Amino acid sequence: VPESSNSLQAYAKDKLSGQMVELFEACQQQTSDLDRKERCRARLQQDIQRVYAVARLYLTGSSMNGLGCRSSDADLCLVLKGNVSMSHSLQRAVIRTHLIRAKVPILRFRERGSDLEFDLNINNTVGIRNTFLLRSYAYADLRVRPMILVVKKWARHNQINDASKGTLSSYTLVLMVLHYLQTLNDPVLPSLQRDYPECFNPVMDIDMVPEGPKHIPPYVSTNQSSLGELFIGFLKYYATDFRWDKQVISVREARALPKTSSHEWRNKYICVEEPFERNNVARAVHEKIKFNAIKTQFAESCRILHGRKDLNSILPVRAII
Ligand code: ATP
Ligand code: MG
Repeated sequence: VPESSNSLQAYAKDKLSGQMVELFEACQQQTSDLDRKERCRARLQQDIQRVYAVARLYLTGSSMNGLGCRSSDADLCLVLKGNVSMSHSLQRAVIRTHLIRAKVPILRFRERGSDLEFDLNINNTVGIRNTFLLRSYAYADLRVRPMILVVKKWARHNQINDASKGTLSSYTLVLMVLHYLQTLNDPVLPSLQRDYPECFNPVMDIDMVPEGPKHIPPYVSTNQSSLGELFIGFLKYYATDFRWDKQVISVREARALPKTSSHEWRNKYICVEEPFERNNVARAVHEKIKFNAIKTQFAESCRILHGRKDLNSILPVRAII
């Protein structure tokens, strides 16, 4: 049993928390999964460097931030800099897509003969910065990783974790969990951008970003809530306390900001601030029916779990493991 699991037991003395640890240990990304992704990244980078010598390929997203599952895809960011330009047609496509949907174009492919999926973007370097910010939060307290893994599985199972279908991206869900842990009366997490501004300087050279937060010590919280208490508290916070029409989630400031009438927040159902670019990462939720489905899921799951205190009442654990 790894040492971290031993200490995690302190937060898992009740049945619900034990189930959360069990799900986490069965589903979390293994070293062998990461090694395989890293080998693919290195091979691909070599091939690309034959054409663009100064190109760099970065593994981002849940593969790198400590919040990955065995089944997670591998997100990649190709950084082309200096006077290396993309082909004209690709550049035009990028610009057009930005204008229309303000989304990042993605190249999706699979490793030959396997089910390992890759999502590659070009020059969306904010994804590298926020990957290492999320990684620092993931390791700031032992409870963060199991908590987020269970929330992701719960959201996926209940069909509210798919930005392409107008619900929440995994990235949005992660920021929602961090915000909840930051704003408890007795916080489980601080604002790392406030406490360590030099580690998360938004204009830091991209090559330095992975090194930036290497020496941040774990956060010492006086909050000793179990995993189950935190999970029920998370559902309750978004089911009853959070004011969707008046508040913006800011992990950067570790608080809810008042919703202004600025273009970024006006007429948006859900407002979650990107910690570096400060735009809305939840803009995919643009239909009232999907917004209502999300709120209903929080309320229903909160009601059931509060009564039953059994993870299986809202998520079939055996089927997922
Ligand atoms: P999963 O395990 O489900 O794949 P994930 O943590 O990889 O989850 P995604 O929503 O797939 O999360 O996003 C992958 C990465 O892309 C994020 O970690 C983040 O670095 C970046 N990203 C996603 N959405 C945004 C956004 N709106 N703005 C900036 N970066 C984003
Ligand atoms: Mg991913």
